[in-house]
Amino acid sequence: MSKKKQVFKPVKALPSFPEEEEKILEFWEKNDVFEKLRETRKGNQLFRWLEGPPTANGLPHIGHALTRAIKDVFLRHKSMHGFEVVPWVAGWDCHGLPVELEVEKTLGFTDKSEIEEFGLSNFNAECRKSVFKYVKEWQDMSRRIGFWLDFDNRYATLDENYVESVWWSIKEIYEKGLLYLGYKVVPYCPRCGTPLSSHEVGQGMMETTDPSVFVKFKALDFEDTYYLAWTTTPWTLISNVCLTLHPDIDYIQVEYNDEKLILAEAIAEKLIIDYTVLQKFKGKELEYNKYEQLFPFIVPEEEAFYITLADYVTIEDGSGIVHSAPAFGEDDAQIGRKYGLPVMNPVREDGTFSEDISDFAGLFVKDADSKIIQNLKDRGLLFKQGVYKHTYPFCYRCDGPLLYYSTETWYIEMSKMREQLVANNEKIRWQPAHLKNGRFGNFISEARDWALSRNRYWGTPLPIWICENNHRTVVGSLDELKDLYGKPLVDDFSLHRPWVDDITFDCPECEKTSTRVPYVIDCWYDAGSAPFAQYHYPFENKNLFNAHFPYDFITEAIDQTRGWFYTLLAISTVLFNKPAYLNCLTMGHTLDDKGKKMSKSKGNMIRTDDVIPKYGADAVRWFLYSYPTWNSVRVDPTQIYETMKKFILTLWNSYSFFVSNSNVDGFNLSTFDIPLQERTELDKWLISEVNYLIKSIDDALENMTVHVAVQAFENFVIDKFSNWYLRQSRRRFWKNQLDEDKKSAYITTYEVLVTLSKLLAPFIPFIAEQLHQNLVKELNP
Ligand SMILES: [Zn+2]
Ligand SMILES: [Zn+2]
Repeated sequence: MSKKKQVFKPVKALPSFPEEEEKILEFWEKNDVFEKLRETRKGNQLFRWLEGPPTANGLPHIGHALTRAIKDVFLRHKSMHGFEVVPWVAGWDCHGLPVELEVEKTLGFTDKSEIEEFGLSNFNAECRKSVFKYVKEWQDMSRRIGFWLDFDNRYATLDENYVESVWWSIKEIYEKGLLYLGYKVVPYCPRCGTPLSSHEVGQGMMETTDPSVFVKFKALDFEDTYYLAWTTTPWTLISNVCLTLHPDIDYIQVEYNDEKLILAEAIAEKLIIDYTVLQKFKGKELEYNKYEQLFPFIVPEEEAFYITLADYVTIEDGSGIVHSAPAFGEDDAQIGRKYGLPVMNPVREDGTFSEDISDFAGLFVKDADSKIIQNLKDRGLLFKQGVYKHTYPFCYRCDGPLLYYSTETWYIEMSKMREQLVANNEKIRWQPAHLKNGRFGNFISEARDWALSRNRYWGTPLPIWICENNHRTVVGSLDELKDLYGKPLVDDFSLHRPWVDDITFDCPECEKTSTRVPYVIDCWYDAGSAPFAQYHYPFENKNLFNAHFPYDFITEAIDQTRGWFYTLLAISTVLFNKPAYLNCLTMGHTLDDKGKKMSKSKGNMIRTDDVIPKYGADAVRWFLYSYPTWNSVRVDPTQIYETMKKFILTLWNSYSFFVSNSNVDGFNLSTFDIPLQERTELDKWLISEVNYLIKSIDDALENMTVHVAVQAFENFVIDKFSNWYLRQSRRRFWKNQLDEDKKSAYITTYEVLVTLSKLLAPFIPFIAEQLHQNLVKELNP
């Protein structure tokens, strides 16, 4: 007897999923499946999606795989529904401080002077190399997790065309009158030598402990009396120029332990016991009363060291008397401006005291705190000391404490755009929805001016040239620059430092020499320019950009509410008065198996290579999808295994059960095709359930709730299909005669498996491909 040809390829009861996945990856590549899919969708309705560009200067971990897996579900789903997904290309974020820090570390540099010695072109060449250092690892990770993405036509924020588009946008903003130079007290990282914008500061707030000291300032208008002031930043005492009181609060002069003090009446009861009140005054009665300079290192030119008044003084903390140093606080700076007080800033860019501050010269300010306290103690000027727990901003890149520091900074006047930001946010659908008017909405409704300039090297150069008469020329394109320069550019010219620094030209207004300001821009601005800069708009691709903007969908991690989500909206609002995106799904973070945030320094990073070779990409994907996308996920390998066992193996067993029985009975698509109305009630029920599932999946993805889709799949496959339908139908498959009832069970099961293979393709594309190859392709080779 000759061996009958099997209908389907036999299915192993427990295959090695990772091995099967490798074969499928080869099949997709050999047959250009992704490219062919995109080709067949050309000209259809667009689904416009924008890749948030990662920086490839570090190895990707499982968190990056999560973002890729989530994106992949939506893009595959839309594509299967016939949409042309655009641009569906990778993007790389290439500039900025993080890149510089990584290169500094590699070169063993600890401060900016070493970069200057090394040479800007050398340093920037290292940065350029560094940003693509792990691009292969990123591509391999993306490929292995099954993320379909066009890496060949990627955009990169360092491309000359990209930078030129960013320059165009900055000129637009300048011409709208929204770009200005300010001298403001800004959050400043002394380690990185640059100010940070408010959305960056928001990413590094941490609980910390600082010294809390009550300091005695000797009053000059009272005999043997001291003003008692409170501070948590003793290092700023060196720059003190005034003491600030609330005009309407009651202050008292008291005799206490043989000395006389002035402080707020309400505070005295809490701070001291057994004191005698000598006098009582309102704060405003003390205005302009003088005191002795606490640290006489700096001799100011303007008059200083007297009592000033401000409404922001409270009696919540401290003594009701605030020590003010206009160089190091925005409130202080305002008081300084109001009273015409000097700004004394003895702190160098690296956060250390200058030579003038003899006792503390060269010390990092925060490290000087204890020495300053000791000095006050020795001089009998320390009244009391303790510790103060509060939330303080740290640099989200280098973890060092930020200082509030007065510096020259170029700003985009976002505070003028609040209404438009809020109106454009109205057009965006957020998941989770509460972000719209909560975390994100609050942030934009109080948008601060955007500190755009950075005193750094590797970034998009700020295209502003200034002449000796202070006339400004903002350059918006390479051609404009060439025209102004009037000479041929060097062969290897690049729109980067140091090339642009070498360009000087005669000021169009007064013909004096114009030189470029020494700054690069916030790299978040680069990323936020992706909607137009990746097309080299407006120099090229105007129609393409107009067709693709605004984007239908973006999804990135939750911390981007103050990062990319914000800068995209900010820039698109200023330039086009439109939101850059219409739907935004936020993703939670991935934690290690103990629930700790993964970090390089803790060595608890889980990489895709740690889990995919064991369980397969489908299992990892399904595991990641099973949580609400915006929640943090604890990546626990045993849980990945459990998820796989529960769903993927159940699906596989149902499929394997069908195939082995079909091969025995010679399943035939045309002769087994029982019309739906002639099938059993059980079969009809399953078909109606699967139709309901199709709708549930579409709805879940429309609502950007991937985990709801996962629940619907599990509910259907495990409970309805496997545990109920197949169990109830076992005897139908096992009976001897191949009657209509048996055929009906076969065709119903077949239809359901084929539908599942399509529905699941965006979620677990490898298993879906296996099902499709065997169930569909085997019958129609
Ligand atoms: Zn820093
Ligand atoms: Zn000029």
